[in-house]
Amino acid sequence: MDTMPLFYLYLCGAEDRTQCLTCASTIKMDKFTAHLFDIYKQVLGEGIAQTVFLGLNRSDYMFQRSADGSPALKQIEINTISASFGGLASRTPAVHQHVLNVLSKTKEAAKILSNNPSKGLALGIAKAWELYGSANAQVLLIAQEKERNIFDQRAIENELLAKKIHVIRRRFEDVSEKGSLDQDRRLFMDGQEIAVVYFRDGYMPTQYSTQNWKARLLLERSCAVKCPDIATQLAGTKKVQQELSRAGVLEMLLPGQPEAVARLRATFAGLYSLDMGEEGDQAITEALAAPNRFVLKPQREGGGNNLYGEEMVQALEQLKDREERASYILMEKIEPEPFANCLLRPGSPVRVVQCISELGIFGVYVRQGKTLVMNKHVGHLLRTKAIEHADGGVAAGVAVLDNPYPV
Ligand code: ADP
Ligand code: MG
Repeated sequence: MDTMPLFYLYLCGAEDRTQCLTCASTIKMDKFTAHLFDIYKQVLGEGIAQTVFLGLNRSDYMFQRSADGSPALKQIEINTISASFGGLASRTPAVHQHVLNVLSKTKEAAKILSNNPSKGLALGIAKAWELYGSANAQVLLIAQEKERNIFDQRAIENELLAKKIHVIRRRFEDVSEKGSLDQDRRLFMDGQEIAVVYFRDGYMPTQYSTQNWKARLLLERSCAVKCPDIATQLAGTKKVQQELSRAGVLEMLLPGQPEAVARLRATFAGLYSLDMGEEGDQAITEALAAPNRFVLKPQREGGGNNLYGEEMVQALEQLKDREERASYILMEKIEPEPFANCLLRPGSPVRVVQCISELGIFGVYVRQGKTLVMNKHVGHLLRTKAIEHADGGVAAGVAVLDNPYPV
């Protein structure tokens, strides 16, 4: 999608993007974001050792009809850490093509879009590895203790192996036990030099023990290419998404590019700060008056954390006079048109239900110093769920992997 490379532009300048957060009270009110920000400041103070930057992002959208009836893509969020399902989404076209072919619907089968994000994501890692410039260095994939998404990750690992780039899988605990930096802050794991660190863990508070925070700091201090570096992880928070939608902020980040600003802004739904003050009070009053039009979002990732309807009302009533409310943002609820479809899930009967879909666009960028080496979209992810589920994706057990069918 055309706007994906534009999102890079605001993820690019470390000073600009984190400025949004420096002044936001979210930092004080959300411990997890505060901890990430502390590491960021510490590394900035010491001097950032990495010179190559790699982003593997996924920007998620839902279709909503505008007032004039035309469908428009509205952004749900952008994922700058552990953006998943690029591997599995590379396999889903073959599944639907097969089903349609079995039903002798060969014409329809041919219309399923081909899709291979894992190839593009691996190309980004490979480019960062190459620019790091050490032939024997490896890629370190930080995996979870109980990894449920290994096959998604393997698709990317296999693409890299085909380019003779080796990936080792380790947990934060392994890094704290066997990771080290030399005097040039080169990162070594089990004595092996690491060129790129690819995080598939580290985006939720429960994923960090004290030991894991130490490991994260060690990785962050190194000159290995982190995907993402901690500033880019912070740039993916819901608070930054909301601050970006403020009048004048995109204009500041993309000076002299009014068309790009307009195209990006057209994808934004209403986003509201809940910082203490008049603006936040007003947003709360509006949400309490029309709860079905809003979503309350904490600074969390991974699905199942947002609050809707009655739950949102109760939370807002409790939060409205407390500074803690600044750790949330309020978002306009996007209302895609439902359609009938079957969701194939273990243990559930196959029947036609009303569904909505969310379209994710994968984007890859690589930057060396100030030079942009790669910035492109590399594929898509369609997730479909029954309308009764307000929140949650595939990992949360709510949505299923799907394919767009162009008509
Ligand atoms: P997470 O970081 O937990 O994935 P998201 O912002 O993506 O948080 O929200 C999780 C899910 O909730 C989304 O996949 C989407 O289905 C639903 N959702 C989030 N924001 C909105 C919104 N503004 N309107 C409608 N549904 C939303
Ligand atoms: Mg999401």
